[in-house]
Amino acid sequence: MPCELCPRRCRADRASGAVGFCRAGALPRVFRWGPHFGEEPPLVGPHGSGCVFFSRCTMKCLYCQNSPWSWNGEGEDIPVARLTEILRELAVKDRCSNWNLVSPTPYLPFIREAAAPLLAEGVKLPFVWNSSGYESVEMLEAYADLCDTALFDLRYSRDETARAASAAPNYVAAARAAIRWAYGRTRRTDQPPLIVRILVLPGHAEEAIESLAWLATELSPQIPVSLMSQFTPAYRALETPPFNRKVTPEEYESVTEAATDFGFENGWIQSYEAADPALALLGENMPGGHGTVS
Ligand code: SF4
Repeated sequence: MPCELCPRRCRADRASGAVGFCRAGALPRVFRWGPHFGEEPPLVGPHGSGCVFFSRCTMKCLYCQNSPWSWNGEGEDIPVARLTEILRELAVKDRCSNWNLVSPTPYLPFIREAAAPLLAEGVKLPFVWNSSGYESVEMLEAYADLCDTALFDLRYSRDETARAASAAPNYVAAARAAIRWAYGRTRRTDQPPLIVRILVLPGHAEEAIESLAWLATELSPQIPVSLMSQFTPAYRALETPPFNRKVTPEEYESVTEAATDFGFENGWIQSYEAADPALALLGENMPGGHGTVS
């Protein structure tokens, strides 16, 4: 069947061996999995968030820190039955708080198929759909059962930046529609239904502020937001200014101040030095904070 799982709608016939923009194939491809403790506090719990890092990605961010598996496809093609066992391991052996699906979009049908026998047995964790936010509402609706928490980036407010830095046409409309969709849902678990991550990019702090303005005015400043300072020049960013440097303290502070000015009070501010686990709360309604996130 032609693949239309992400907004690119390549229509690649993956089952027949064709690949589209993301180069995902006819089987789930997984780079690694395991408990992860760097996610936002409501997702971690005592035993960690059960991350499954899928290989390939529907975006091509020139600064991607996961380029070995997102761009270059490192990982292993596995049968769906093996993915079932990975999900079982995270739930039963590791006792994780959730199944945290990192960049799941090219593999949604496989994930549903893999989880089905576990759900039938009563082995069930909340699903976290952890992505760039570059999603289609049609597919979010179709696979809503895999989304108890939408952990979506809102990376850009200007399409020209999204095209240049992530080769993602129409990113702003797609990500905003995805976030609007998640915002409109009723809470399904103890976890928040939506957390919006805003990674501050060097030279583009004003886009993070524009994204916060959109969230506050079009949706609500009550949305949990996660402000991230962790940008580190990597991969093709090393030769592409302004992405070849870290965010300055002044840039980051302009975003954290804007978040306060817009009235955001649920969420977290990553410390400026991401390697430093020191935490700060954006407001007083949410516990804890986070270090480097996936
Ligand atoms: S998931 Fe991959 S193959 Fe499918 S439409 Fe998106 S980029 Fe194309």
